Amino acid sequence: MSKSSGDIRRTQVYFVSMIIVLMLLSLITLLQAFKTYREKGYVDYLSFTLSISAITLSVYMILQMKTRPPKTGFEQPEVFTVIRCSKCGFETTRKFKEGDYILKEADLCPKCKEPTFIYMIFRKADEEEKKRERYEL
Ligand SMILES: [Zn+2]
Repeated sequence: MSKSSGDIRRTQVYFVSMIIVLMLLSLITLLQAFKTYREKGYVDYLSFTLSISAITLSVYMILQMKTRPPKTGFEQPEVFTVIRCSKCGFETTRKFKEGDYILKEADLCPKCKEPTFIYMIFRKADEEEKKRERYEL
């Protein structure tokens, strides 16, 4: 977990640096275009358009990143429901659905056609954490 979130943070740092470099290059291009205009009275429309769109894109990307909720530590944990047949012991795991609770009746067992029930609800985490946090019968 901590390793992958570290990778995400490193990727973000690269990403931000790239945006900053892009912005600086665009600013330089824009300043060059202004300089050309002042000195020669010639408007370099291509440079203007390119640099302004690059700056707009960079600003947009930065805003996108800021509005996104922080990824590490605040992710919604994945919750799973284990369904079990009391007769033959058939067990299946599916994603938790709203309204699931332990001992709630579920679909018929695909093996022996007996009604199954929700046996366990747990959230996906490290094995250590899973042992501590699942609510077992
Ligand atoms: Zn069964």
